[in-house]
Amino acid sequence: MSEKIYLASPHMSDEGYERKYVKEAFDTNWLSTVGENINQFEESVKKYLGVKSAIALASGTSAIHLGLKALGVTKNDYVFVSDLTFSASVNPIIYENAKPIFIDSEPQTWNMDPKALEKAFEKYPNPKAVVVVHLYGRISEIDEICEICKKHNVPILEDAAEALGVKYKNKFLGTYGNCGVLSFNGNKIITTTGGGMLISNNEEITKKAKFWSTQSKEPARYYQHEEIGYNYRMSNVLAGIGRGQMKVLEERIAKKRKIFENYKKAFEEIDEIKMNEDKEYERSNHWLSTMTIKETSKVKPLDIVENLEKENIEARLVWKPMHLQPIFEKYDFIKVAEKAVSEDLFERGVCLPSDTKMTEEQQKMIIEIIKKLFE
Ligand SMILES: *Cc1c(COP(=O)(O)O)cnc(C)c1O
Repeated sequence: MSEKIYLASPHMSDEGYERKYVKEAFDTNWLSTVGENINQFEESVKKYLGVKSAIALASGTSAIHLGLKALGVTKNDYVFVSDLTFSASVNPIIYENAKPIFIDSEPQTWNMDPKALEKAFEKYPNPKAVVVVHLYGRISEIDEICEICKKHNVPILEDAAEALGVKYKNKFLGTYGNCGVLSFNGNKIITTTGGGMLISNNEEITKKAKFWSTQSKEPARYYQHEEIGYNYRMSNVLAGIGRGQMKVLEERIAKKRKIFENYKKAFEEIDEIKMNEDKEYERSNHWLSTMTIKETSKVKPLDIVENLEKENIEARLVWKPMHLQPIFEKYDFIKVAEKAVSEDLFERGVCLPSDTKMTEEQQKMIIEIIKKLFE
């Protein structure tokens, strides 16, 4: 069988930047959670995003956890969060014994519906924070969401784990909220194998996060602890990978966008397919190329996934909404439409193979397999 084509997999630079920085960590023996790679990785992300401070952590999930803590989320607080997302956007709310309230999507960007958010504020007037996700690299209605949250005086944590490098009105996603989260997990647009970052223009937030992430050691000659600590800091070895990957981020975004354009062009004539397309002002990173299939079509999302699987090609269904997850069943879900938009997207959505190592020929083959199903 031919070599497997992945949905999205790690893609190191041709120049070998990552190896060079990892080797440097070995050569200088900075094989812990301090060192030049961490410093330089944080610096490069700060410079790229134009954000005041950034703290490299073990994962995007740990960054969400410490971000929520820094926003003051604690026991029994309500936290509004996008319903259509990966569970990592929600789990840290539970770590703090707070209560998630799931907010439905709007159909244009698949992200948090400002109308549903307003409705949630009517029912729960005092949430501690709002977690807004920019799913698959698409820009949420962030202006409206910021306005609503400002009106209610509630801070925003932006989950930009899938949206690194996406600019909206000359500002990068992740820098709109009180704090933002990036992920460098293996499937993300750039990777450190596993890792994340908490970013903010409020240095108090990242300072607190850094303190907690390194076991909350008080400044004393002995180990003094006045708060619960975490072992969440990124390793200097892995930061070397990130440092190298930052050099190819723009290249990766360009390729992801090209992959999306190829699908879009190829499926133009198929009336039953609707690509998850940018708005006129939008330049998303298309971390994953996604689409929906018309309800009336004989082809279902699973048909595409299974037919590609037979050829050793990975495609997936869209994230299953959080309010449908058995573990989160008991938490409230706020929608404005009769039928939840997130459920509809889940039922009709497909994530297409979006690996940046994929060749044009491989993508053509994928397109042919999919086209055949619609004949
Ligand atoms: C990947 C991802 C995360 C979590 O990041 P990790 O680095 O894997 O912990 C959080 N939110 C979303 C939307 C993600 O896709």
